[in-house]
Amino acid sequence: MSTVVSYLPTAGNPNASEAEIQRIFDSQRDTAIRLRTSTAQERIAKIRKLHDVVMAHREAFHEAAYKDFKKPPAEVDLAEVLPVISEAKHAMRALKKWMKPQGVMPTSLTIGLKSWIQYEPRGRCLIVSPWNYNVNLSLGPLVSCIAAGNTAIIKPSEMTPHLSALMAKIIKETFPENEIAMIEGDVSTSTALLALPFDHIFFTGSPAVGKVVMAAAAKHLTSVTLELGGKSPTIIDASADIELAARTIMWGKYTNNGQTCIAPDHIFVHASVKDAFVEACRKVLKDCYGESADQQMASPYLARVVNERHTKRINALLTDARDRGARVLCGGEAREDECFIQPTLIDNIPADAKIQSEEIFGPLLPIVEYSDLDTVIEAINAQPKPLALYIWSKTESNIEKALKRTSAGGTCINHCVVQYAHGNLPFGGVNNSGIGSAHGIHGFRAFSHERAVVRTRFMTAKLLFPPYTDFKKKVMNIMLKTQ
Ligand code: NAD
Repeated sequence: MSTVVSYLPTAGNPNASEAEIQRIFDSQRDTAIRLRTSTAQERIAKIRKLHDVVMAHREAFHEAAYKDFKKPPAEVDLAEVLPVISEAKHAMRALKKWMKPQGVMPTSLTIGLKSWIQYEPRGRCLIVSPWNYNVNLSLGPLVSCIAAGNTAIIKPSEMTPHLSALMAKIIKETFPENEIAMIEGDVSTSTALLALPFDHIFFTGSPAVGKVVMAAAAKHLTSVTLELGGKSPTIIDASADIELAARTIMWGKYTNNGQTCIAPDHIFVHASVKDAFVEACRKVLKDCYGESADQQMASPYLARVVNERHTKRINALLTDARDRGARVLCGGEAREDECFIQPTLIDNIPADAKIQSEEIFGPLLPIVEYSDLDTVIEAINAQPKPLALYIWSKTESNIEKALKRTSAGGTCINHCVVQYAHGNLPFGGVNNSGIGSAHGIHGFRAFSHERAVVRTRFMTAKLLFPPYTDFKKKVMNIMLKTQ
């Protein structure tokens, strides 16, 4: 493996011109056709290159993420570097198997034909990423894109510019531009890219922008994978292990300071265990980050909110809830110019508070007390289908009820966020929280076209060709009866 590189390029998010974007897109046309015949070995060699260069820049990623929003290095390792490395290793191990044509059994209508599904590259692909895990969500999908034999243009998020600049430098130094290119820029760059007739778009970001992406893709009938967000609820019933739930939920929520698509957005907790849960959460927060705003700001383990605009947005949600009568159970202080809001637990939130309907994506955690699980399920079903739903319980009937009567992209029972880490599970949302899946074979298939292939062994269809004699009518009658 190559040596450690720790040097940061200048971050500035230069917007590429439309002509430059078009030139790079055009340059990938012939490559995409050539890559249709690329072998597993060739694709694995490219994934290995990506793996090695990411490992070699591990410290540079720490540095860049700290500059962007004081993200703790341990969280960069856990949630940026490790997922890419793990996706790459999984693909390198399994790619030959994934690429193998999948034979299918003949149906009674296709006796005499040998049939299979062949995974062919989609062609020229666009990957657009969000800022919150800019590396993981740019380079993770890139692994699947390469595995499936495509070219790629990646548009990382402009909101974490040091990470984007570093990735752009790495990609430029590692791959030829006519095969894999990273184009930095903001919405205007994204808009220019989305106007092009890509063969597939893999977008990760908000549901609102997901709709913009899907509308742009519709102009060319480009297929899309949309990895979106939303409000992910957590249910804690009376039988749950409260200490474990508090520790795990605080970890899932406050890693990246609540700026995680699958972080618990709000908690429904049974009235009989609410006080114990709140107390356990307070203790965990104090142990992990300190108690006062000053201590928490000085904590090396708590990332900041990504920028002042988002700090103001989150603080406005808190102020609106408070103005309408919500109660702060812990935290509650905001320093907007420092991009800091305390880890904050709130309850007594009225139905008309904005925090009830908007994705929080920050360090606020509403806690809603319940006494009847049916009302919780009704409340969840009244909202768009979430990306994640978590259940903390030791009561099988409650677990089954919550699982079967709701819909969500993914669910953990007595855990949270780890569904993302399982390389064999499809990762994705449902409707408002996403379309399609990522990770492992599911990512490979997202970037592949499943081509149906039929080859004649012996020709039975002749029995149906014109002229339509009485004999052929009899054959048709038998077929209709025997289906
Ligand atoms: P975003 O949708 O604002 O931006 C994502 C990307 O789209 C960025 O690269 C941005 O430049 C581009 N973009 C923004 N507005 C655009 C427009 N009008 N037209 C074209 N492109 C545009 O999302 P974000 O703020 O970077 O990330 C937060 C959101 O992403 C949250 O909703 C979160 O839940 C979601 N998210 C989902 C996943 C997942 O895997 N499902 C992962 C991380 C984040």
